[in-house]
Order: sequence, then structure tokens, then C-alpha cells
Amino acid sequence: MSKAQETVLEIDLGALTHNFNYLKSKLKRETKFLAVVKAFAYGSDSVSVAKHLQDLDVDYFAVAYTNEGVVLRDAGITKPILVLHPLPSSFETIIERCLEPSLYNSKVLNEFIEVASAKQQRNYPVHIKFNTGLNRLGFWQTDVDYVVSKLKATSSVVAKSVFSHLAASEDLEEKDFTLNQIETFKNIASNFEKQIGYKPWLHICNTSGVVNFSNAHFDMIRCGIGLYGFGNSAKEDENLKPIASLKSVISQIHKIEPNESVGYNRAYKSHGYQKTATIPIGHADGISRIYGNEKGFVFVNDKKAPIIGNVCMDMIMVNITDIDCKEGDEVIVFDSNKKAANLAESAQTISYEIITSISQRVKRLIIK
Ligand SMILES: *Cc1c(COP(=O)(O)O)cnc(C)c1O
Repeated sequence: MSKAQETVLEIDLGALTHNFNYLKSKLKRETKFLAVVKAFAYGSDSVSVAKHLQDLDVDYFAVAYTNEGVVLRDAGITKPILVLHPLPSSFETIIERCLEPSLYNSKVLNEFIEVASAKQQRNYPVHIKFNTGLNRLGFWQTDVDYVVSKLKATSSVVAKSVFSHLAASEDLEEKDFTLNQIETFKNIASNFEKQIGYKPWLHICNTSGVVNFSNAHFDMIRCGIGLYGFGNSAKEDENLKPIASLKSVISQIHKIEPNESVGYNRAYKSHGYQKTATIPIGHADGISRIYGNEKGFVFVNDKKAPIIGNVCMDMIMVNITDIDCKEGDEVIVFDSNKKAANLAESAQTISYEIITSISQRVKRLIIK
């Protein structure tokens, strides 16, 4: 692969195929695979990722918000798309663009039925979300009667699935809590089926649920982070390949004297004769100010170069005193060896935040 000559996020579709096949190998043949491609496919590129997964015959997609689904439809994605967190102001668009809403409280349920009826829909597919302990979105277990009565009173919509979301599937110390969520979900589902008289699909597992709770895959699973190459554990990270590599280049090298300062607010003071490199990537690109002052680092010719001083909007300065390098050399923020997880750890955050933070200013380069 040619070396980066500017800041670029490379997206490796081969790695995506690998991750998809690996996660699929954890499922029974009949279990459906929903790919979560919200937030630009976790900061990568939602259109190229979704097209590739559609070619691999994934069953379903999910996004968080309606406008994310519209982008996929405009790009020619024809598979069903679940919108996890739609707001009533977008319900007309949902129907016009054949997107499928998650309905999570009585306000959105009633307003969606109203819009679907006004648009003369019959059996429009919707997904009913129940809260089983995350306490974020969803009807309560005690709402089943109410939801079913609303659904039975209309022919405009049909419950294609009933689902919930796990709060701590990656944390085996919370195993009892997760098993309890799964039990609650089963009770909700059987009550729902009994009352409505048909069997909607059931789903509760995210990536860590797929890996850790194989008895809870039900009819479909919803994978996000695993597709992008992170498994929320050292063991699963081994089986997955990060699809995104963030690369840049040294634009200038400075030689500084003892006691000179570097960057805004003079936050860094040199300890002796030192060499610094300026890199064209800053907090506007997703390198949070948290990484400044030696909390974060990049790799220059395979050696770790700590970020010194404050992260600027468009640049960082790194310490290359002991690194043999020159202007124009490639810089790696993360790739499949030098993982975003390392950076996440040093900044006390999680891989999800690092990869979704890479801003749209950074050019995406799709590698087939
Ligand atoms: C984001 C999201 C997922 C995907 O979770 P991962 O841990 O990334 O696999 C699944 N379900 C819901 C409801 C989500 O919001």
C-alpha cells in the first residue's frame, strides 16, 4: 500500500468481510444479521460499508436517526433499514423512504400510527422496543397490553419485531444482570406473541451479546463494533481486524533549544535540545484535546511519538527527538497493528469513541 501523503482514513473492505464472516460463524444458520451502520458506520464511511455488506447479503441495517437512513437510500441501499431512535418530526420521511422505525413510547407509537394511517399505509413494518434494564429507550414490561391493544386497533402498521438492548453484555461480572435482562425479554416476548396472535422477530444481542450470550441470539442479532474490528475484550480483538487506519504525514520538523515552549499557552517546555514534528491533524479532525500533553501518541517509522503541548484545531506537535525521520514521512495514528484501543486506553475512553470521532474533514480512502 502506498504511504499516506496527507491525513487520510483508510477503510479496508477486506477486513470488513473478515469480521462479518467471523461474527456470522457464531450464529445459527437461520439467525438473521443486522449490521449497525449508524454514525457514518462508526466513523468510517456508511455508504461504502453498507454497499459492501449488502453485497455480502447481510439481512438488515440499522441507523440511529432518519437522516442517516435517507443517505443510505440515496446511495442505492435496498435492504430494510431500522431507525433505532426516530423522532416524530421525521415520520413522513421514514415512510417516504421505506425506513422502519423503532417505536419506544406511547407518543411515538401513536404519532407513527397517525402518520401511517394518513398516508394510507397497510401493515407498515415497525419494531417495538422494550426497556429491560438499560433505562434509555423503550416501553416497560407492563406496557405490553397497551401496545398490543394499539396495534390491534389499526391495520396501518404491523410489529415486524420486538426487541431490547443489553446494558453490559461485554462485562462478565455483570452476567447475572444480563441473564436477567434476557429472562425479562423472553417474558415480554411470550406475552406479546400470545396477545397479538403472531410471532414478531425477536432480537436483543449487540456484538458482545453475540459473543458472550449464544443462547440469546433469538431471530436476529445487531452487530456494530465487531464489524469494525473491535471485540470489547482482548480475546475477541484477536479474532477481528480493525477496518479503519488513520494516517498522516510530517509537514515540518523543528529543532528546539532547552527551555523553549511548544504550542498554544506554552503548555510544553523542552527538557534539552529536542526535535518536534508538526502533523496536519487536530481536534477538528477528531484528535481530542484530551490526547494533548503526552496522553496520546502517534507512530513515526514504527516508533511511538508522544503528542506534546495542547492539541490545536488543525495540528498536533509530537516529540521525535529520538526518532530517525524527515519531513514527508508517514505518521500512523492507528491501524490494524497499532490499535485505536491503545489510544482509547491512554485517554481513558473506549474504541467506540475514538473511531466515531474522526471528523468528516478527513478524507476517506476505500480499499477494496
Ligand atoms: C449501537 C447499537 C447496537 C450495536 O452495538 P455494538 O456494541 O456496537 O455491537 C445494537 N443495538 C442498539 C440498540 C444500538 O444502539
